[in-house]
Amino acid sequence: MTFKFDELLVQIKRYNSQADLDLIRKAYQFAGKVHAGQKRLSGEDYINHSLAVAQYLVDWKLDSSSIAAGLLHDSVEDTGTSLEKLEKEFGKAIADLVDGVTKIGEIKLRESKTEEFVENLRKMIIVMAKDLRVVLIKLADRYHNLQTLYVLPKEKQIRIAQETIEIYAPLAERLGIGEMKGRLEDLAFPYLYPEEYQWLKKYSTSCYKQTNRHLEEVKKKLHKELAAEGIRAEIQARAKHLYSLYKKLLRPEIDKDITKIYDLVALRIIVETIEQCYVALGIVHRLYKPVPAKGISDFIAQPKPNGYRSIHTTVFTPNGKITEIQIRTHKMHEEAENGIAAHWYFTQQKQKGAKDSQVEAGFFAPAEKMNWVKELVKWQNEITDSKEFINSLKFDALKHRIFVFSPKGDVFDLPVDSTPIDFAYAVHTNLGDLCMGAKADGKMAPLDYKLKSGQVIEIMTAKGKKRPSRDWLNFVVTHTAKKEIEKHLRKE
Ligand code: MN
Repeated sequence: MTFKFDELLVQIKRYNSQADLDLIRKAYQFAGKVHAGQKRLSGEDYINHSLAVAQYLVDWKLDSSSIAAGLLHDSVEDTGTSLEKLEKEFGKAIADLVDGVTKIGEIKLRESKTEEFVENLRKMIIVMAKDLRVVLIKLADRYHNLQTLYVLPKEKQIRIAQETIEIYAPLAERLGIGEMKGRLEDLAFPYLYPEEYQWLKKYSTSCYKQTNRHLEEVKKKLHKELAAEGIRAEIQARAKHLYSLYKKLLRPEIDKDITKIYDLVALRIIVETIEQCYVALGIVHRLYKPVPAKGISDFIAQPKPNGYRSIHTTVFTPNGKITEIQIRTHKMHEEAENGIAAHWYFTQQKQKGAKDSQVEAGFFAPAEKMNWVKELVKWQNEITDSKEFINSLKFDALKHRIFVFSPKGDVFDLPVDSTPIDFAYAVHTNLGDLCMGAKADGKMAPLDYKLKSGQVIEIMTAKGKKRPSRDWLNFVVTHTAKKEIEKHLRKE
């Protein structure tokens, strides 16, 4: 796919009347000059890659500096342009962004030995925490690279695909960019599990078609009933991303039976206000009975840790079909699709003098949503270089949350005073139920041990044991752990 600079400018003007178009134009010309004559392995002109990255940043409605840095992101690594030169031409902020993207690119997680892996991951978090726009540029870069991954040698394909699934996709999720997470995973999926991918693609296509036909009816009905209550809603049918479908199929309770997956295609009702979300929920339940075992999740009253908000309900639609319905406002929708990027956009809007009434109507991201990011940035500012960080492991600077790592290097963000049990339940309910011992940084730790940021936590399980202990309730701090333990106790 080729991208056109003029079209990019048109789109930028549409969402940001204050954009520094001269800066963006200058960056484009500069990138054109330094990449002149360079081709990507795919045969396309190099500048098309720079434009692609800029395009994704524009899709996220990012600021002028990010877009300029996106256009320039490979100029240091691939053309030998010096950072000094970039700084002279474009200022320190943009040079820093490009430097951050280059640095992340140099950290090859998959080529590192196990013991270096977590360290490298930490390094990566630091670079990104300096300025989160670096992450967004890197994600855009990775997204475009994956689209032309087929040109690379097989080993590289696998390394990049693996790194994408293990690092970049969770990162996108962590930043609340759920849509990008799904796209990255789906692009990496066929390289990692070619057979499973082919099987699932064939297997799911007919199911998708059938479900979609069924949902057309439901959509019509909902539109009508919502309109009767004076609610103008947008209703979308959204197919589950293939890789996330694959992971769900592997769960023991699903056992590769696609008919047990109720959100294969989910319906999304998008309305104007939070009040309308609840009215819409009432209408949905009047028309279609909720499925008792599935229940309703109100992520508006209780947002997910990454800030995700929506109401989810699973209902019986005609012919006994079970369907998941998600209800949210346009603002929540934008946030769910674009995550932290949406936060930037809304902050920009606010600076331009948005009305207070809009703020109160939930038009802006709640402050606490971005807390962990802010803490990370704040703490990062207190540490002058990454060497010092690795020596001191100053993760403690995070006041209310801790970050711990699984042995594979997955990052878990937990409240302060979390214990191995909280960690186990955060990883998986099953792991919590089976937990009987834990190691923190390789050393045995009691189950009520208070985890510290930066530790690698390993959970030991007992085969067949599936009973949490009542004592655990005395020390666990997360909602999930409490809920799961209580659920078991009630059963007994
Ligand atoms: Mn690149």
